[in-house]
Amino acid sequence: MSMLKIRTSNCVIAISMLVAVQGLAQAPELRRASLEEEVVRTISHINGDVYHAQTNRSGTAFLVTPEGIILADPLSRDFAQWLKEEFATRFGVPVRYVVYSHHHWDHGSGGAVFADTAEFVGHANMLSYLEMPPPTTTLADVVGQYEPVAALDSNGNGVVEFSETPEDMQRFPGSRQNIFEGFDANRDGELSGAEIVRGAISFVHPPTIRYTDEIEVRLGGKRVRLTWMGNMNHSNDTSLITFPDDDVMLIVDYVSRRLPNREMDYELGGFPEWMEAIARTEEMAMDYGYVLTAHGPVGTWEDVRAWREYLEDLRDAVAAGIAAGQTLEEMQRTVTMDEYSHWERFDWVDENVLGMYHFLTD
Ligand SMILES: [Zn+2]
Repeated sequence: MSMLKIRTSNCVIAISMLVAVQGLAQAPELRRASLEEEVVRTISHINGDVYHAQTNRSGTAFLVTPEGIILADPLSRDFAQWLKEEFATRFGVPVRYVVYSHHHWDHGSGGAVFADTAEFVGHANMLSYLEMPPPTTTLADVVGQYEPVAALDSNGNGVVEFSETPEDMQRFPGSRQNIFEGFDANRDGELSGAEIVRGAISFVHPPTIRYTDEIEVRLGGKRVRLTWMGNMNHSNDTSLITFPDDDVMLIVDYVSRRLPNREMDYELGGFPEWMEAIARTEEMAMDYGYVLTAHGPVGTWEDVRAWREYLEDLRDAVAAGIAAGQTLEEMQRTVTMDEYSHWERFDWVDENVLGMYHFLTD
């Protein structure tokens, strides 16, 4: 941060206190899960040989051929196990390929269930995310969305024990499995700073086939294509997954059919690159009849346009607030984005404003 370059010691103290107070007010909350919520899992036909597999708030897609199945993100260990049983009874062919949208725990977990029959395809950048940070990484080194996980160390011994975590800790999609297990790579029942920084990705089976720009997987006379969408805020290993023979496109996380996720990963930068990836996706989506995101129902290319327009409207509103000398808190009150109030997760508007404010000012 630029304020750290200020040499006068009093200034440094005053400004770092301000940052600390702001940081406190903006600290992300620990994500929780209602233990009463029933796990719902469904499979529905999209088009041709492509199907939509869904659980409560997440989804994926798969292609069935006479030679086997190509499955996009497996979502979680339990969801993947359920899928494996459904595939056996409904189609009687094994999964030959698992193709990843990106490395995040809530999409990429669970592939090991198919390791006996499948290859795993992902962008080459997935590998660096799967590496463990240096063992010297402490809980204090955790910044961003997992800060509240590091903050659970109530006895101050430098690790988070399972007994320190709340009962309603976040769960894997389509599963009762606790996110704690996702962080705990060495399964010793406690989380180090390095394990938390790495993320809850212990159940992400590494890609056995890696690509850099584009790859086409062929099976049973059909194709699945993965296209790298570049470096951006959400991740640097994002693949757009398309089923060109069945007119289906699957977009994961950098476009959704609901409000953008919370503070939009502003701490990772990459807003112009994100907008570029969205514009490119919108252009490509026009050639597809069925455009599916991982969060929401099957739609069309016009949903990608709507998402781009939302971000442009948000950007313009926040830029106007900045130009008018408004504080972030004022903008969180005045930038209401009312015309999008029918979108799911509209309660995230104030976090979206925060993220956009940082994109435009950091
Ligand atoms: Zn993600």
